[in-house]
Amino acid sequence: MAIASINPTTGETLKTFSALSAAQIEEKLQLAADTFRAYRHTPFADRSRMMQSAAEILDNEKQELGQLMTTEMGKPIKAAVSEAEKCAWVCRYYAENAERHLADQLVETNAQKSYVRFQPLGPVLAVMPWNFPFWQVFRFAAPALMAGNVGLLKHASNVPQCALAIEEVFTRAGFPQGAFQTLLVGSDAVEKILNDPRVVAATLTGSEPAGSSVASIAGKQIKKTVLELGGSDPFIVMPSANLDEAVTTAVKARTINNGQSCIAAKRFIVAREIYEEFERKFVSQMQALRIGDPMEESTEIGPLATPQIVDDLEEQVKKAVATGARVLTGGKRLNRPGNFFEPTVLVDVDITAPVSCEETFGPVAMLFRADDIHEAIRIANATQFGLGSAAWTNEPGEQAKFIEELEAGSVFINGMVASDPRLPFGGVKHSGYGRELAEFGIREFVNIKTVWIGG
Ligand code: NAP
Repeated sequence: MAIASINPTTGETLKTFSALSAAQIEEKLQLAADTFRAYRHTPFADRSRMMQSAAEILDNEKQELGQLMTTEMGKPIKAAVSEAEKCAWVCRYYAENAERHLADQLVETNAQKSYVRFQPLGPVLAVMPWNFPFWQVFRFAAPALMAGNVGLLKHASNVPQCALAIEEVFTRAGFPQGAFQTLLVGSDAVEKILNDPRVVAATLTGSEPAGSSVASIAGKQIKKTVLELGGSDPFIVMPSANLDEAVTTAVKARTINNGQSCIAAKRFIVAREIYEEFERKFVSQMQALRIGDPMEESTEIGPLATPQIVDDLEEQVKKAVATGARVLTGGKRLNRPGNFFEPTVLVDVDITAPVSCEETFGPVAMLFRADDIHEAIRIANATQFGLGSAAWTNEPGEQAKFIEELEAGSVFINGMVASDPRLPFGGVKHSGYGRELAEFGIREFVNIKTVWIGG
């Protein structure tokens, strides 16, 4: 894919970039390795000061940064500005907590003294997606830099200006040149970079094929990886739930980021007793969403990031209909410039049909009826993904069962799946492995060193 900013609202190419040459990549890798040698010894207080300064820049410039995100990938401006604020939050969270997360841990053994020390690993490659073009990067970079690692970002090819702006935030915050560098390269350059001995580990947020490829290359080189891949999150509603709140949250959970979120609720599994009412209210609220220019504050659904995503989504809906699904609303692209797709509700989808098992990356919801909690859990787990899950019920016994039985990296009861710097984030099954955020995230890219001192 060419490295270019193409406005998804208009289709206009705003800026194109040439990929870095082999010599430029070499220079950046060497700078990362050289920087790491000194940076790993920086006191926590210094790293913390720089990270707080990055947070300040993000907060102060959230409007401009938000506009950049919306221009490159189409998310509604309000959400883009909130994304910059959330990045400031994760910077502050790690600025305040990293030292505690990584403090030596004493362990009583037969030694005179034994403990665990957490040490940085070196330059880590981050292969990142466009959908949360700032957040995905910051949730990797804040803990990585606070731990004393240095970062190399290969961002998605459709958000190069965001990639460069993020590098600038860290440079202006006072981090040394080389602590965080953007590599403007296509995905074809990843293998060579990952094979380079100076790169010690990798994290990838993106699709399954990309994750599988990066993990295979890293595996051959015995390099640690963290993978945050796709999801097809279930959203279960039981009879005791507050139905109106569940419906409003369901619509938001499906359409957040124009439907392009890994943790968007994608399959809605509703108890038979309340199904009809849920369906009626859900369809009506999906139809009421304001579609339009994402730069307008009032817009709820903007364009999808690329024309390819519209093609893929349309194909998935067509295939679903061909195998018996019914479209209650939407179902096709909008007849206007830009990559717009109608908010769509599908019913009667066979749970073994591809569309039910695949990820739908756009505002397409599937509704399922469940006779009881066992069937709800069976439908929920009938996917190769296992990222987030949400269950709405006020029955304590049902809550306990969902917490125990749902195959996912997170379970939200009576709420919407969302990431939070204080809680770990990640998936199971084909949604990936490893965790980001909280103390679990900062410990992914460290040497957990055992120290044993005899008498
Ligand atoms: P993608 O096509 O996999 O791209 C993600 C990144 O990987 C981009 O930087 C891309 O570069 C690169 N890439 C693609 N193929 C590669 C390969 N074979 N080797 C190395 N790098 C490769 O994913 P996307 O369409 O941008 O993002 C949507 C996907 O990300 C969805 O599946 C979504 O669920 C997932 N996601 C997961 C999370 C999570 O936390 N679990 C969060 C957000 C998104 P180019 O752009 O140059 O191709």
